[in-house]
Amino acid sequence: MAAGSAVDWREGLDAGDLSSEALVRGGLDRIRRLDGQLHAVLASDEDQSLQLARQADARLRSGERTPVLGLPIVLKDNLHWSGLQVSCGSRILDGYRAPYNATVVERLLAAGAVPIAKANLDEFAMGSSGEYSAFEATRNPWNLDLVPGGSSSGSVVAVAGGYAPLALGSDTGGSVRLPASFCNVTALRPTYGVLSRYGLTAMASSLDQVGPIAASAADIALALGVMAGLDPRDSTSVKLPGVDRLDQLHPGNLRGLRIGLPREYFGEGIETGVQNLLDAAIQVFKDHGALIQEVSLPHTRYAIDTYYLICTSEVSSNLSRFDGVRFGQRTAGGTLPEMIAQSRNQGLGAEVKRRILLGAFCLSKGYYDAFYMKALKARTLITQDFNQAFEQVDVLATPVSPGTAFPFGAKTDDPMAMYLADVFTVTAPLAGIPCLCMPVGLSSGLPVGLQLIGPALSDVMLLETAHAFQSIIQHHLATPPLPA
Ligand code: GLN
Repeated sequence: MAAGSAVDWREGLDAGDLSSEALVRGGLDRIRRLDGQLHAVLASDEDQSLQLARQADARLRSGERTPVLGLPIVLKDNLHWSGLQVSCGSRILDGYRAPYNATVVERLLAAGAVPIAKANLDEFAMGSSGEYSAFEATRNPWNLDLVPGGSSSGSVVAVAGGYAPLALGSDTGGSVRLPASFCNVTALRPTYGVLSRYGLTAMASSLDQVGPIAASAADIALALGVMAGLDPRDSTSVKLPGVDRLDQLHPGNLRGLRIGLPREYFGEGIETGVQNLLDAAIQVFKDHGALIQEVSLPHTRYAIDTYYLICTSEVSSNLSRFDGVRFGQRTAGGTLPEMIAQSRNQGLGAEVKRRILLGAFCLSKGYYDAFYMKALKARTLITQDFNQAFEQVDVLATPVSPGTAFPFGAKTDDPMAMYLADVFTVTAPLAGIPCLCMPVGLSSGLPVGLQLIGPALSDVMLLETAHAFQSIIQHHLATPPLPA
């Protein structure tokens, strides 16, 4: 990690060896030098960031301490940071500026974190590669010819590229974990409801979660502790047990930890190099006393269909607010319905339109029961699979992706191929349970991630388990071949 770890920087700031202003200047400078190639950043407000950094330094000098005080952070551009653009990677929001702060942003600012940039993403967070941004596609710092993964492409590359030690993405069906796997960083998708979505532009509301991204689980814990906590502005908000353990994360005890390997997630289709690294990581857990056993999640084969039916249905409803009347771009001319149709036609990209059409179809009279209702029933079965597995094991370990990062254009002509990139990441969100991705090594020079999935509200245990692994073996410290 070129930026250094949040935990190390925390210590340096607290000891007075580092200043927030120097760290923020360093991050902004790196963006200036590298982002012409990486395209991870869509907007920033340097003056405001430097001012916030100086305020953080004053708070540090006065003796104040918080887990994130003075640390630079990058925000996915579907999160509201008051006064800055919220493009959602779309043309339709041209000119729209956040009139308020998202709850997670508000809490980070109150604790003295310093946002330094808004990050690129697939349009409205729909995508798995970063290529569906209406702006330049973000590039993978490990190999500029490859995608970084999506949809939180810019947030993940901001961490991998050393712009900031922390970033926020959003994860509806894999959007922090897939890019984390492709770029050698750690990312958590918390239990549904643990982080407020107030101020996160909605994609599929029964699935959306904010997800912190960093070099390590211990780094993620710093940000999670500050952001978690009930929010009356999000009706799904739940309290996270164990938050007090996040300020200084301790490695979890691996001895006796029961780790389940779901049969349906391994086998055919997984690249050999990926499989070998997953095996080696599982061996590390075993060598340190974890008990490994095979489990079954029999309804996994319905996961992609279920996810894309529910996701597109909710997308078609949520995206109807972008009509050229209230936010962003308007295409003038004709009657009101014509203006709305033209604004949407010009402002939205092909993938977003595809999902709105699919979703409207799933929800339409005569098809509702056959598609949407059926998907809801399958979702219940998928959730029951997990409940049963967690009667036998404490945590599940799976691949994040069957392969490493792929070349630009490899899947853009075939929506089904792009959707299948999410085969291992959509199940846990359907069940609302927490999951994380952590690096387990390089296959032919490209990063590979392992996914850990836990029962609802086991987020802290998941981070402690990942931290134990990262204390034993330091795959997460490998950095991409970028200038220092
Ligand atoms: N790749 C998935 C999709 O396109 C997940 C996106 C996300 O998590 N925001 O829907």
